[in-house]
Amino acid sequence: DRPANLDAMLRATAARAPGQDAVTDEVAGTLTFAALDAMVDALAGSLSAAGLKQGDRLALLIGNRIEFLALCFACYRLGAIAVPMNIRHRAPETAFELRQCGAAALVYQPDMEPHLPDLKALPDLRLVYALDSDGYAALLRDAPAPPAVTIHEDDPATLLYTSGTTGKPKGAVLTHFSIVSSAVHFAHAWQARPGDVTILAVPASHVTGLVAILVNMVNIGGHTVMMQAFKARAFLERAEKVRMTVGILVPAMYNLCLLDPEFERFDLAQWRVGSFGGAPMPEATIARLAKILPNLELMNAYGSTETTSPATLMPLGHTPEHTASVGQPLPGADILVMDEDGNEVPRGQSGELWIAGPMVVPCYWNNPEADAKSFLHGYWKSGDIGRIDEGGYVHVHDRVKDMINRAGYKVFSAEVENVLSHHPAVVECAVVARPDPVLGERVQAFVVPKDGGVEVAELRSFCAERLSDYKVPDNITFLPDALPRNPNGKILKTDLRAMVAAELEAAGKG
Ligand code: ATP
Repeated sequence: DRPANLDAMLRATAARAPGQDAVTDEVAGTLTFAALDAMVDALAGSLSAAGLKQGDRLALLIGNRIEFLALCFACYRLGAIAVPMNIRHRAPETAFELRQCGAAALVYQPDMEPHLPDLKALPDLRLVYALDSDGYAALLRDAPAPPAVTIHEDDPATLLYTSGTTGKPKGAVLTHFSIVSSAVHFAHAWQARPGDVTILAVPASHVTGLVAILVNMVNIGGHTVMMQAFKARAFLERAEKVRMTVGILVPAMYNLCLLDPEFERFDLAQWRVGSFGGAPMPEATIARLAKILPNLELMNAYGSTETTSPATLMPLGHTPEHTASVGQPLPGADILVMDEDGNEVPRGQSGELWIAGPMVVPCYWNNPEADAKSFLHGYWKSGDIGRIDEGGYVHVHDRVKDMINRAGYKVFSAEVENVLSHHPAVVECAVVARPDPVLGERVQAFVVPKDGGVEVAELRSFCAERLSDYKVPDNITFLPDALPRNPNGKILKTDLRAMVAAELEAAGKG
């Protein structure tokens, strides 16, 4: 029983459960599936009349609001391609993505205005709407019916930009097929039911928010309650009030809930499934949650933007015996463990995880160079180091890609290094992860300054003007002479990481 495409998915749920609550946000209140479907129809009709065609890219700079969901599905109804962007982006980041995908349209929330690039410099951009403006409101009034279009399951539905080793974001091409596959398998694995209630506390524009939560809940006929930002206390209050049944969160959010001294006071008896992913979860966090919420099924989910959300999932009931594993491949997913020469290693040994299956994206948008590096024979090379044990459970324990995982937000070192190295007082720099008990990792920069030096605050504000806030180095350490390098001139990040570890250990003792 799988919908043929994302538009068919919404239509089927709206026909089956028109009066069921679909989505609630902090601005507009609650929409039923019938109301959501009507909003999608109006937006699709108006955008089409305004010139948005099948295959065109519509970029979204919108946080966790109903309009985000409605505009994505309006694109799916027209066969247009929704391109959600991160609302923490600064102007240069947004400019790059709008240009790279040749966006024909942009809808942004008003508080993004100061961070927009010069839109007139983008030749493809024909339609621009600010949310809450008259121009946007007009899209919903007296809208013509949208044209009937034929959508093939391999058609691109959404582009999601992920950073990379070169520091230039790549647009992963999520197709109707990859998204529908992901949602159907994910829901089946945790026995989703109509009437399930979840809270969207991760960004809607991230693969977990869009696919694992929003599309998933549209598919099963569940209710998504949106929060614009995660705060542990507000989340717990909301979870109790809406009788949340499913939580799809990153590990840092569970850590932050556990730091709330009142956690145990909340009545969360309805909460039956708690999935976590996007970063490793400390085993101590799992143990403490199991004690406070004994009826909660905790479930590790491992995946990435390129796998359209989870590629492995812990089967229900298996967490207590397998806290260190990310679970088993979802149906149809094939995971190889490969050595550096591209040969499979013997079972049980570690190597890079290569992943194929219906949820894996076919390519990056308009980027054959990145495709050639990352995809081979239908497998996506994850850059994660792991192994598969005798029971078929997958373990992820390191990564080859030079990435920092800050509370689930991915920061590619190269992107931060590129920006820092443009500062006139920086001779050279390198960025590594700094372990953190709550967020998992933070951003640590090492900088060799020019004679005369430079203030930490100056470097941080230089970065903040050009990078999303979570990419701005949390710590900057100055090295007087040079970065440590091997005889070939390659920066020894292992030495830098060891310096951070030594510093943290000294601080712990002190
Ligand atoms: P997910 O689909 O699990 O939510 P994600 O949304 O965080 O993943 P990306 O932002 O593309 O997707 O990041 C993917 C990377 O995050 C993986 O390659 C891996 O390094 C890390 N990651 C994702 N899930 C887990 C997990 N369960 N355990 C450890 N690391 C993980």
